[in-house]
Amino acid sequence: ADQSQDNSTDPTGGATARSVLVTGGSRGIGRAIAERFAAAGHRVATTSRSGEAPAGVLGVRCDITDAGQVEAAFTQIEEAHGPVEVLVANAGITKDTLVLRMTDEDWQQVIDTNLTGSFRVAKRAVRPMIRGRFGRIIFISSVVGLLGSAGQVNYAASKAGLLGMARSLAREVGSRGITANVIAPGFIETDMTAELADDLVAGYKKQIPLGRLGATEDVTAAVEFLAGDAAGYITGAQIPVDGGLGMGH
Ligand code: NDP
Repeated sequence: ADQSQDNSTDPTGGATARSVLVTGGSRGIGRAIAERFAAAGHRVATTSRSGEAPAGVLGVRCDITDAGQVEAAFTQIEEAHGPVEVLVANAGITKDTLVLRMTDEDWQQVIDTNLTGSFRVAKRAVRPMIRGRFGRIIFISSVVGLLGSAGQVNYAASKAGLLGMARSLAREVGSRGITANVIAPGFIETDMTAELADDLVAGYKKQIPLGRLGATEDVTAAVEFLAGDAAGYITGAQIPVDGGLGMGH
């Protein structure tokens, strides 16, 4: 690039503008991530079953538990933005209950969305990334994946599984310039956590060294870093964004 060029009007600050896909971008953490990438000048798409994408972002209706819908969404995104270069596998759900009350369906729905859904989108994204010899895959896990959480046997298993998947992928495709990493947020204020009882939230706060719940911006900063040029030598890593809640895990 021409170093003398004035990049002040270029929102990427001279960095390469990428085709970015954030799954589950209609609300919460995914929406904030999509907004951040769009503001930085990238071509951003999001998928969700309902809801709208933020302004300036291509919103695609897609249930990640349906392989056909995933394929159709990627085709649409590739036509609009080119092959996905940065994939943020963020879509996720909870179906919390103690193990003795957990039905096979509670288990299956959470695993199928959080773990298998992430596998579906990562698998679909990888081939064009190999062809392009560049890719950044970022899985949004959770502190409870490694810490465990009473009432979340299904959710914790799905999130722990993402780490094994990321590390295996990192080994498979590292030689092609593709990184695969995990972000493990702690307690972030979104719709997902708004349902929790006040006394439970107060109890969590006491266990967080930084003494506050996280904001979606805390997570987007880490995602942006992993997707950026500066993180090209980081793969198979898990970055906690949890105020210290999960230290040692
Ligand atoms: P929200 O419930 O606010 O948003 C979840 C997003 O995922 C929505 O856009 C939702 O859209 C989408 N989604 C859910 N299921 C599907 C599906 N089958 N197919 C496509 N999209 C789907 O959650 P958060 O923003 O709080 O969480 C985002 C991620 O971060 C999740 O993976 C969560 O486990 C993780 N996380 C959250 C933490 C928190 O404290 N909030 C802590 C640690 C991790 P729609 O319903 O329209 O499909």
